[in-house]
Amino acid sequence: LMNNRPFIVGNWKMHGTRAMLAEARAIDRAAERLIKVEVAIAPPFTLIHATRKEASLIGIGAQDCHPADGGAHTGDISAAMAKDAGAGFTIVGHSERRTNHAETNELVKEKANAVIEAGMNVIVCVGETESQRDSGDAESVITDMLTGSLPEGDIVPERLTVAYEPVWAIGTGRTPSPDDIGKMHRHIRGVLNQTYGEAGASIRILYGGSVKPENAGELLSADDVGGALVGGASLTAESFLGIIMAAV
Ligand code: PEP
Repeated sequence: LMNNRPFIVGNWKMHGTRAMLAEARAIDRAAERLIKVEVAIAPPFTLIHATRKEASLIGIGAQDCHPADGGAHTGDISAAMAKDAGAGFTIVGHSERRTNHAETNELVKEKANAVIEAGMNVIVCVGETESQRDSGDAESVITDMLTGSLPEGDIVPERLTVAYEPVWAIGTGRTPSPDDIGKMHRHIRGVLNQTYGEAGASIRILYGGSVKPENAGELLSADDVGGALVGGASLTAESFLGIIMAAV
């Protein structure tokens, strides 16, 4: 049943000091009334613990982790550490990590495995660039990203979410048409079925890229869209709740 609910996840990226806890609190208070939607936010590591204490109903997650359990990795955070701070899930393979930190599919897979191993849920992000879409390669690019990045072994479908985020739609105000989103989500569904067998059918697939209160209803109604991963519009309770309302 829980898996049938739309899943709306806010990715705060490198935004947020303790002043932003008021937004988390406001989202959490409203989420109490929105039992038909599963709501979560991924604040920066530095706010995970405080956000968990501030907001008791919504999910709290990390935006990334290191694949190792621990060790000599200055400045990095392991999955177990994120969990200990209060994270229930971790996002891996976001396009900003892939681009800004040269993360490969192989590394993203190691991170996804580490998140599952640590007992958290994982959101694996994939998305084609504009030139890959223009040259007609979007579906094959996504197939390669998925097979290269998805966690290994049998999976409990509730613990894995895939986020389809076309790179050219992130933070740009541009979005694919609902038809194009539906087409790609059906393609991703095919890869999930091939990878995980029966479990593949109930893994949620989120759309991400310039989702706002004004377009959320349309984007969420595209075929096989199980929710949204939201960047900019998740930074205030007002706009994030606008998206959550559109998902009900
Ligand atoms: C994101 O980076 O996950 C994202 C979808 O960003 P935005 O909503 O700002 O396009």
